[in-house]
Amino acid sequence: MTKKKLIAGNWKMNGSLAANESLVKALLQDVGTPDCEVAVCVPAPYLAQMQALLAGSPIALGAQDLSAQQQGAFTGEQSATMLKDFGVRYAIVGHSERRQYHGETDEAVAAKAAAALANGITPIVCVGETLAQRESAHTEEVVKRQLAAVIHVNGHCISEIVVAYEPVWAIGTGKTATPEQAQSVHALLRAQLHHAANEHAAGIHILYGGSMNAANAAELLAQPDIDGGLIGGASLKAPDFLQIIAAAR
Ligand code: PEP
Repeated sequence: MTKKKLIAGNWKMNGSLAANESLVKALLQDVGTPDCEVAVCVPAPYLAQMQALLAGSPIALGAQDLSAQQQGAFTGEQSATMLKDFGVRYAIVGHSERRQYHGETDEAVAAKAAAALANGITPIVCVGETLAQRESAHTEEVVKRQLAAVIHVNGHCISEIVVAYEPVWAIGTGKTATPEQAQSVHALLRAQLHHAANEHAAGIHILYGGSMNAANAAELLAQPDIDGGLIGGASLKAPDFLQIIAAAR
């Protein structure tokens, strides 16, 4: 049986109580029973609001980050157990914006993935190269190094993670990787996962992220190793996000 694709929205630092409510109501009105798994990763202050609005719906709740620590003197952080209190199923870890603006290292990302896994939250582990790295032919080395750090720490339960390949040059820029460019990196990541997880690698979701939208989703999602999408900008518009969900079958 082939696995269902996963379409996850990353709202980033967008929204308000009123805007979230109208977005989610529009999604729930038309989402029906989707052929794929669906999640929205929302800003932390809105987890309680979203938990209530999404209760009993086919849309799962996600966070955009979490602490690697369990509790204590870590001002500004949220632990996995706190996220669990609000019904969080997924947590993005190692998004390029966190790596870039918050100095998150491969090791920190691996520790965050471990904290999520230890608490029953599925980490969506982001990897991806910058434009300079792609142009200097370092894509393979970079994404493999980023994923290797997570495998190193979480090897025993690596089949429980979700990977998101997000070329940094494609995030929020309107430039999408071609389906062939994306597929070739996804195939590399699949091979690396296969090394760590043997036959379970086929069951691991590898999402594509980077300016995926209603117009290009179907072609990207048709690639053999693209198991879904991590969607930024287009997840903030209900009709666009719904079209991407409909393309994931
Ligand atoms: C993201 O931030 O994860 C992302 C893919 O953004 P966008 O779809 O806006 O490029």
